[in-house]
Amino acid sequence: MPATPAWPPSSLPRLFVDQPLSAGLRLTLEGPPANYLGNVLRLQPGAQVKLFDDRTGEWLATLDEAGRKRVALTVEALLRPREPVPDLWLLFAPIKRGRIDWLVEKATELGIAKLMPVTTQRTVIDRLNLERLRAHSIEAAEQCERTALPALEVPRPLGKVLKEWPDERTLYFADEAGGVPLAAAARPGPSAILIGPEGGFTDEERSTVRALSRAKPVALGPRILRADTAAIAAISLWMAAAGDWANSVDR
Ligand code: SAM
Repeated sequence: MPATPAWPPSSLPRLFVDQPLSAGLRLTLEGPPANYLGNVLRLQPGAQVKLFDDRTGEWLATLDEAGRKRVALTVEALLRPREPVPDLWLLFAPIKRGRIDWLVEKATELGIAKLMPVTTQRTVIDRLNLERLRAHSIEAAEQCERTALPALEVPRPLGKVLKEWPDERTLYFADEAGGVPLAAAARPGPSAILIGPEGGFTDEERSTVRALSRAKPVALGPRILRADTAAIAAISLWMAAAGDWANSVDR
C-alpha cells in the first residue's frame, strides 16, 4: 500500500512558542499569537493547531479557550522531533531595512543555523533592530514548516569575530575580487559564509580575512551581486554541495 502522502502540508495553523513543549502541557498565549488564532482566524475551542518550540519539535495542540486577547491550549502529541540543521553560519554586514528583512527571511527558509551580523569598515547601518529581524525569522520558519530557528547574534565588529574564529570552522569568504567557485570549494562540516556590505570589503579587510588559516576566498560567478542576493546564492550553493540539499527527499 502506498504511504499516506504528507505533502501538501495540512492547513493547520502553525506557531512558534518560546517555551519547552510536552504532552499534556497547558499553556496560555497572549499578544500577537492570541490575536492571530482568536481574532484573525477566529478559531473556536476544540480547534487544532501545530506548535513548535525550537527545542523538542512540532506538536499538535487543541484550543481550550479562544478569546481575542488570550488563548488557552493543551499540547497533545509530538508530530515531529526538531529537525537536524546543517552546521552553516551566515556572517553578513548589515544592509538597509527591507533588504535585510528579506535576507533574514530567505536565509531562515534555506536552513541557516546561525545569523551573525558583522560590522565592517564600509557598513553604513549603525543600528540593527534585532527584535524585528527575529520576528521575520520566526514568521519564515512558521510558514516553511521549519522546526528549528536560526540563532540570531548581536552585531560584532568583523575584526573581533575573526580574532576569535574557531579552529574547526571553515570560513567561505565571498570576495567580489575573485576566488574559486563556492560550488567546487564547499565541503561538509562546520562552515560559515562571509558576505560584505554594498560597498564591499576594503583592501585591509580583505588581507585580514585572507590571513585567517580557515578562510577560503570564493567567487559567486562573474557578476557582482547585491549583498542580499550574494548571501542567498551562497547559502544555496553550500546547501546543494555540502549541506542537506545533497540528500534525496521523500516526504
Ligand atoms: N562594491 C563592491 C564592488 O563594486 O566590487 C560590490 C560589493 S557586493 C554588492 C556585496 C558583497 O556581496 C561583497 O562584499 C561580496 O561578499 C558579495 N559578492 C557579490 N558578488 C560577488 C561575487 N560575484 N563573488 C563573490 N562575492 C560576491
